[in-house]
Amino acid sequence: MAEKKDKYAHLKTEEKSGWLKVTKEENKAIEQLSKNYMDVLNTIKTERESVDYFSKIAQEKGFITLDNFLKLESDFAGKKVLFSNRGKSIILAIIGKKPMEKGINIVCGHIDSPRLDLKQNPLYEDSGLAFLKTHYYGGIKKFHWFNIPLAIHGKVITIDGKMINIKIGDDANDPVLIIPDLLPHLSKKISDKKVSEAFPAENLNLVVGNIPIDEKEKEAVKINILNILNKKYGIIEEDFNSAELEIVPAFPPREAGFDKSFIAGYGQDDRISSFCAFKSIMEINDPKRTSLALLIDKEEIGSEGNSSIQSKFFELFLSEVIEKINGSYNEKMLKQCLYNSFAISSDVEVGFDPTYKEVFDLNNTAKLGHGLVLTKYAGHGGKYSTNDANAEYMGKIRKLLKENKVIFQFGSLGKIDEGGGGTISKFLANYGMEILDAGPPILGMHSPYELSSKFDLFQTYKAFKVFFQKA
Ligand code: MN
Ligand code: MN
Repeated sequence: MAEKKDKYAHLKTEEKSGWLKVTKEENKAIEQLSKNYMDVLNTIKTERESVDYFSKIAQEKGFITLDNFLKLESDFAGKKVLFSNRGKSIILAIIGKKPMEKGINIVCGHIDSPRLDLKQNPLYEDSGLAFLKTHYYGGIKKFHWFNIPLAIHGKVITIDGKMINIKIGDDANDPVLIIPDLLPHLSKKISDKKVSEAFPAENLNLVVGNIPIDEKEKEAVKINILNILNKKYGIIEEDFNSAELEIVPAFPPREAGFDKSFIAGYGQDDRISSFCAFKSIMEINDPKRTSLALLIDKEEIGSEGNSSIQSKFFELFLSEVIEKINGSYNEKMLKQCLYNSFAISSDVEVGFDPTYKEVFDLNNTAKLGHGLVLTKYAGHGGKYSTNDANAEYMGKIRKLLKENKVIFQFGSLGKIDEGGGGTISKFLANYGMEILDAGPPILGMHSPYELSSKFDLFQTYKAFKVFFQKA
């Protein structure tokens, strides 16, 4: 007997899990992409490492630096160009056939993640233990960072200008660094405090040594650590003053769940979107409109600083390219290019977690396994501090994705007045371009080990590729 059909199905929003639509063949592609993504997550944990990695692979795939692009004489369409902004943000662009002033297609994601930074004078000894002092970066729950294996990644600039790369903790033979928490047996008073007060930022101290260098020295444990670092890296204590050393979780990404539907890993906010933007632009050739992936730093601290979206290095890049293609340049060309552009600000969105139902509006929250999330606005309170995408543009992208069989959903941050957050979109929207937020939903966002869905990863990648080629 035939199944009874819901005669009103065409009127209602479809609520099925995306997994139900996955074919055998598609599942293969999902698994392949997930494996690739997990390898990348394991390789790059900081903004600098992201730029190094993306630029290395891009150059292998035919991208040239902006400097080399500017040396070309003709045939600009189809050329692949990259620009690294101080090694912390990167632009990857494929020049289209249409004039830049008609607008370009931009996917913008961020490559910094919440973490701990070392202070500029981090090393001290107390009671026979050596410690490194940290300063948290971005929105973390501080208690997440106690007693988990941590690694140190970053750069030290010595007084004679040498740049020393430091990366300790990821290799199985490396030591890890730990921030010890107080045992529960002595935590009675602390347990009675509010969470925000129970874990002060100044307690986020990494224990890094216990062996004195000799009997006579004062601070003999600290000196022993300095000696070890000096032997291995040639650095002295003062060199910490001109260093950027980031503390990140040392554990590798893993598949999660009995059904292996999830990917667990550090820094998926927002390396999952950046990875999808990167991966999709690597697979595009000869687009009509210029395709541009803008992978930037400092989003997690509000997009401040010269590697952030607000630093306008993006304008510099575009003006150089426009001048080269047109043989002349005026500000109006740049402004037209920006105004006529289409953009996706790609950032992770919150996934519905039924354990915390009370903070979500179920009908307006994304679900894991239901595809890419389109978000009209973020912000807080009465839609403060956010771009609020135009209905026309939401409609355009919705149609584009539907026509190209990308599975997507709509979602927003949570119940109004429960909190809030923002992304890069409001800064790009200032140029007058059409822009909306889109990205995969995440559970445990901003924790040291975030959860994403393999299915949503795949839809995000598919969506960005369609957007670059067809928007
Ligand atoms: Mn983000
Ligand atoms: Mn974030």
